[in-house]
Amino acid sequence: MTRTTCAYCGVGCGLTVSGSTLAGDPKHPANFGRLCAKGASLLSTLGHDERLVEPFIGPETASWDEALKLVARGLQNAIAHHGPESVAMYVSGQLLTEDYYVANKLMKGFIGSANIDTNSRLCMASSVAGHIRAFGEDIVPGTYEDLDECDLAVVAGSNLAWCHPVLHQRLLAAREKRGTKIVVIDPRRTATSDAADLHLQLRAGTDVLLFNALLAQLDARGAIGQGWIAQYVSGFDDALATAQASTANIGEVASALDIDRAALEQFFDWFTRTERVVTLYSQGINQSDHGTDKVNSIINCHLATARIGQPGMGPFSVTGQPNAMGGREVGGLANQLAAHMDFSNPENVDRVRRFWRAPNIATRPGLKAVEMFRAVAEGRIRAIWIAGTNPAASMPNASLVRGALERCPFVVVSDCWPTDTTAHADVVLPAAGWGEKTGTVTNSERRISRQRNFCAAPGNAKPDWWMFAEVGRRMGWQDAFLFTSPAGIFREHAALSAFENRGARIFDIGALADLDDAGYDTLQPTQWPFPKADQMQSRLFADGHFPTPDGRARMIATPARLPKREPDVLRLNTGRLRDQWHTMTRTGRVPQLMSHTPEPFLDIHPADAAAIGLADGGLAQIESQHGRSILRVRTDARQRRAEIFAPMHWTNTHSSSGPIGGLVTMRTDPISGQPDLKATEASVVPIHAQWHGILLHCASVTPCWGDGVYWSRVPLTKGTIARLAGWNSLKDVIHSEDRLRGFMSITPETELVAYIDPARSVFRYAGVENGVFVAALFLAPANLELPDVDAIASLIGKSVDARQRLSLLAGIAGHGGSGKTICACFSVGERAVKNAIGSGRVRTIADIAAEFRAGTNCGVCIPELKDLLHAGKCQSPKTGTLN
Ligand code: SF4
Repeated sequence: MTRTTCAYCGVGCGLTVSGSTLAGDPKHPANFGRLCAKGASLLSTLGHDERLVEPFIGPETASWDEALKLVARGLQNAIAHHGPESVAMYVSGQLLTEDYYVANKLMKGFIGSANIDTNSRLCMASSVAGHIRAFGEDIVPGTYEDLDECDLAVVAGSNLAWCHPVLHQRLLAAREKRGTKIVVIDPRRTATSDAADLHLQLRAGTDVLLFNALLAQLDARGAIGQGWIAQYVSGFDDALATAQASTANIGEVASALDIDRAALEQFFDWFTRTERVVTLYSQGINQSDHGTDKVNSIINCHLATARIGQPGMGPFSVTGQPNAMGGREVGGLANQLAAHMDFSNPENVDRVRRFWRAPNIATRPGLKAVEMFRAVAEGRIRAIWIAGTNPAASMPNASLVRGALERCPFVVVSDCWPTDTTAHADVVLPAAGWGEKTGTVTNSERRISRQRNFCAAPGNAKPDWWMFAEVGRRMGWQDAFLFTSPAGIFREHAALSAFENRGARIFDIGALADLDDAGYDTLQPTQWPFPKADQMQSRLFADGHFPTPDGRARMIATPARLPKREPDVLRLNTGRLRDQWHTMTRTGRVPQLMSHTPEPFLDIHPADAAAIGLADGGLAQIESQHGRSILRVRTDARQRRAEIFAPMHWTNTHSSSGPIGGLVTMRTDPISGQPDLKATEASVVPIHAQWHGILLHCASVTPCWGDGVYWSRVPLTKGTIARLAGWNSLKDVIHSEDRLRGFMSITPETELVAYIDPARSVFRYAGVENGVFVAALFLAPANLELPDVDAIASLIGKSVDARQRLSLLAGIAGHGGSGKTICACFSVGERAVKNAIGSGRVRTIADIAAEFRAGTNCGVCIPELKDLLHAGKCQSPKTGTLN
């Protein structure tokens, strides 16, 4: 059995893998055996045919030596002709700390530019900046135990139930055990708000006003920790005066937030009266053009009331990626140097220079992600290495990024899979992935855990640290990059954290600098700081000492900036879905994860939809300053007026809608550089589909239908289903058998059986090879129903006799499938649950758990199960846990 860590979110759940069995690690303190559906299905992401297994130079495969020499030469050429600032790296919170460390050392220490940034810039850069402003260092003070021990949990800008399900389960367990109240602050109604005791569905972008009002109320209600502030905190008077400036009248504040005044006062009451308060926050706070102020407005309320550093209390930034924290530790952000040292102090630069024996160390911050790709587009960056991330889909104004990469003279991409970004690379390097490589990650509570390999990397795929080190050596820095194992890299990283530290920086893992290889192999989950063997600290700031020059925490004045009320402008919010991860390079290959939400969509309030002429289930074109996309409409009365939502995950690989990042504004927070991914001005118009259809194939195929056709595809266990719709005449689309065969991805030899009803414009085709049903295409006018796709899909790849072929074309073949996957952990389909409810067999969540096990693992499907029970008019007590 191998103990390892999940590759997805920042909760950092421990896993055990034994043969083909994966389970939550009952001993890991992040999850104590719990897992969500994404983590539980990780084994399904291994061993796919599409993996990158050889280096590529252009379209040709190459040896590692050829590829690495070319990379070294390409970087050297750019440096020789345009200087070190013409080189950049864009890396990822998916990398292990050891990968990150070597990349950062190569770039900042030896190439001599700080132009290395990470996709964590899109995720939590505002939290980093807010921590440094308040505490003097990028510190998450709390620990997950605080979620078990708090009496009030404020969840701000986070759909925790979907994005960090295991932490949400800990909160629900705390509510069961000690009556913890949960307040959710989010412009959207989500699975998290549905399980909350109070939901403040405030107007998007008004968080600072809310927390300023809270600070003013805490003062007015006598809840300020005056003695604590006098001893340990600076900036209180300014922060309070700024907060009071716009919050004197609670009615006006409620009106500006657009929420009920009684609900607002309830929140103030609970926060005032409860000592043990944790405020968890995530992308809804960070991804904003004033995200740093949002973070500090939250921290202010905790500092003002001394609700920090003690059990069950504190501000708590929940990180998105598995190793965003590890990246922050090594200096993976362009404005950081290494080991929590930055460029503001020349002594830091000198210290790291001496430690690395670095001849050309960077002396000033580099370009942050959005600026970096702008520099690529403008020709200032001439060579870029992108590792483990997909900016051609995920960056704001993604089409600018694609154009920039096309124009850039030298692009290297290392990744496990072909992506939208590898398509623009001059050199593609195949990377080893989760389960194949070994190293460490740090989760949201500062806990370092091992990721361990348990299978070989496919083909010639290699770990990222090895690639960076090999290129460093080929660029002439032999001694600095003599790494032979992740253990050696980790020891150097730990030693740097302790180097001339003497308590100046809290990030110190010096106790791990002397780990031998065996100790590294068996390293247990370990929280930092860990400067000496007997000095591990779990919860920080209990002593009131902060790593600022005067040792005091800093409250920051955060003036409230309210978004303009523009009735004709829609604001596009983007975010994650329950079963998906980032640009779906992994989760998009797992059928049970794709089944819950098979298509990209646009959520819009029914009144806004009616005003525009959109129909629920129809198509709409959404357009911003940067681009446009066509999405399926979901009218939802839970959506705020004039605020629309689309998921961040789909790319051109899975849908004609392409990446939503192509529409998103490039506006950033001036302090953190984090893009404002949740408030893009957009307009929406209906698209009137003339026809719709289904394409089924026994292989993995991507529809190529050109303009005028919307498609979205999901994988089957063996094959593909694509949903289609078009707004041009069907006759113009299918005008020849060759074209038809092309659409169906079948050869001229494949037997094509057809049913055509010209009067109704119904077209049904099936492709059969050697008696095996290999493909189907069903098309009909948009106002006519299509056959049951699940039933047809149950026959794909199977032998079909003459009678079954006729049944296929009649749309009555096969057996009804299970419908959309409602519980991805146990692959439970919605149809089965509905049938059980309809028959009266199940009446409660507990009944469903007993019959299907649905809801008994991560629990994220419980709100939907309750909706089904409600629809079935069955009893369902409203609690967050099984009853
Ligand atoms: Fe992985 Fe889910 Fe745990 Fe996040 S909550 S680390 S995705 S298992």
